[in-house]
Amino acid sequence: MPKKKHIPERTCIMCRKKIPKKDLIRFCFKNGEIILDESKKEMGRGAYLCEECFLRIENKKVKRKLLYALRINL
Ligand SMILES: [Zn+2]
Repeated sequence: MPKKKHIPERTCIMCRKKIPKKDLIRFCFKNGEIILDESKKEMGRGAYLCEECFLRIENKKVKRKLLYALRINL
């Protein structure tokens, strides 16, 4: 029997939807700030946002969630 292909999924930190990793936007914390991890290869803890939530990134709530997801205490 052929093995079912495993698609890695992550949960969007805002809407809690499970989405294939490749369709998510990854953020990580580096040098004291939240950066967009375009390569998805940055070390350390990452937080994922779906595109829909990403468009609302300027929303304060989203930023706070990101900080929380990355376990950052400012
Ligand atoms: Zn989302």
